Amino acid sequence: MHFQFKCPECNRAIYNRRVKTCEFCGYQFPVALLYSEDDKKRLDELDKKESRKRAKEGLKLGGSDTGSFIDGFADCGGD
Ligand SMILES: [Zn+2]
Repeated sequence: MHFQFKCPECNRAIYNRRVKTCEFCGYQFPVALLYSEDDKKRLDELDKKESRKRAKEGLKLGGSDTGSFIDGFADCGGD
């Protein structure tokens, strides 16, 4: 079952657990309900990796000839 985090004060669903207060009522969440510092660091790292990957893919796709796209595709399976 998917766990949905809810504000204990106004009971609305919180989609971004990285914020420290409720977007709706301003309730300050107990730290235990939020991501730990380690979690945040890990998420930040993932974000960075993702955006770097996307930037790379963007460059490849931006090259606009099909050949380079296919090369990139083949690379993925070549490990
Ligand atoms: Zn709230």
